Amino acid sequence: MRILIVEDERNVTSYLQASLEAEGFAVDIAEDGDTGLELALTNAYDAITLDIMLPGTNGYRVCEEIRKADIETPILMLTAKDGEYDEADALDIGADDFLRKPFSLVVLIARLRALLRRGAGRAKASLSVGDLELDPSTKCAVRSGQRIELTPREFALLEYLMYNAGTVLTKAQILDHVWSPGFLGDENVVEVYIGYVRKKIDAPFDRKLISTVRGVGYRIGEA
Ligand code: CA
Repeated sequence: MRILIVEDERNVTSYLQASLEAEGFAVDIAEDGDTGLELALTNAYDAITLDIMLPGTNGYRVCEEIRKADIETPILMLTAKDGEYDEADALDIGADDFLRKPFSLVVLIARLRALLRRGAGRAKASLSVGDLELDPSTKCAVRSGQRIELTPREFALLEYLMYNAGTVLTKAQILDHVWSPGFLGDENVVEVYIGYVRKKIDAPFDRKLISTVRGVGYRIGEA
């Protein structure tokens, strides 16, 4: 899942980036409002965390502009108590949730995952396709009652496929949402990782869940 962080405090961004990447998210950073808005309008993010006090365009304006452009990506506003705006304003202008600074990382990640689920129209914390279940809080997959260990990248790939179950995803989309923007390799890494994930969640079972759609990409579950 690809997240945009719009935040001007370096110590907050570097901490957030490292922690979210460790959770398997691909992370883009914008350090001012205008860059944040431009990135939000030109990339497909799964969620955005947006600070309010930013150099250039402030977070409220950025949020308004994103919604004016009909982009429905879930937005979590990071608010500080000394702001000139009220936190309720954040919801009025189209944010999905807000979190007051200083926040706990555990709470931030839980809120982000809740927004991602809501964005995908799901209420349950775990994702499932057929007899395969993935629990983002434990990073564990279970199929037919068997626990399957995954590396962080395998988890991130499977999570992205499962959020989009039934939809064919291209290698470029997968690369965008599972690998961070600094990744310098080519798209073939996607094929390699699809192979690793298949070996774990499909090879030992009769029914295969991941299909290759020739010339297009990959899909988990029925179309
Ligand atoms: Ca700020």
